[in-house]
Amino acid sequence: MISHKEDKDGDAITELKTILKKYKLYPKKKFSQSFLINPILIDWHLKFANLTQNDYVLEIGAGLGILTLSLVQKVKKVIAIEIDKNLIEVLRNRLSPYKNVEIIQSDILELDDSLFEDKKVISNPPYNISSPLLFKLFKTNYKMAIITLQKEFAERLIAKPNSKAYGRISVNSYIHADIEILKIVPNTFFFPIPKVDSALVKILPKSNKIQIINVDFYNKLVNSLFNQKNKVLEKVLKGFLKKQMNESKIDELISNISCIRNRIRELTPENIVELSNMLYQKLSRS
Ligand code: SAH
Repeated sequence: MISHKEDKDGDAITELKTILKKYKLYPKKKFSQSFLINPILIDWHLKFANLTQNDYVLEIGAGLGILTLSLVQKVKKVIAIEIDKNLIEVLRNRLSPYKNVEIIQSDILELDDSLFEDKKVISNPPYNISSPLLFKLFKTNYKMAIITLQKEFAERLIAKPNSKAYGRISVNSYIHADIEILKIVPNTFFFPIPKVDSALVKILPKSNKIQIINVDFYNKLVNSLFNQKNKVLEKVLKGFLKKQMNESKIDELISNISCIRNRIRELTPENIVELSNMLYQKLSRS
């Protein structure tokens, strides 16, 4: 006997294949196309995003519109971004009964940050742009985001100091956002089936903001430190500072740093911001 759930999944995959055939489409690797075929993930998106009729939603990589079709029925307006012009026709046709949707053919990374303003970002985005997409999101005034990411990538975002997954992106995520893994999403939820499982994550703008005095300097420092994350801070920092200042002054400059004998991977995001702010102030005074 086929259970109700399997029945629904079966419907979604049949529908997907029918659409692909009708429009003579095939999933494109270069756009990370892997389409949702399990409606359970739609329910999770709707539930965790806590959608109301007052919400404006930004959907990134709308694909064939499976999530879009549910979103338009719940919120005031959906802005759906899709890079592939072949899918735009499908989206326009499927969403034609709804007036509260705007479909934009574009690369999300090229669009202005203002598009994110006050929006709930709800999306199963393409995984090949996960890092730049997050860095873009962090710069904007988004309201919240519920998105799927590759599971390992999501784990790196929330990794704690001294864990294997801890790195530059963990530090930046901690500084800019509050992130939570809500659900593990099996790879079989998508077609074609991706190699790895995904995670549904909730991202909120950071509640306790950590002030970075100079963002360019901070970025330079973090990049340089995490290129050598198993090394001791003293050694890496000396190498970094040699490029910025007179060598004879380095020892004095770093003499008061409490975590100087720690390995880079042991430093907390707070340690790193504090270090960056202190160094930037001293260097700009000298
Ligand atoms: N959200 C859909 C599709 C997921 S596949 C679903 O859940 O079924 C990812 C989608 O993002 C594809 O439709 C792909 O064409 C689109 N895409 C890829 N790169 C993009 C980019 N840079 N900007 C916007 N959309 C992109």
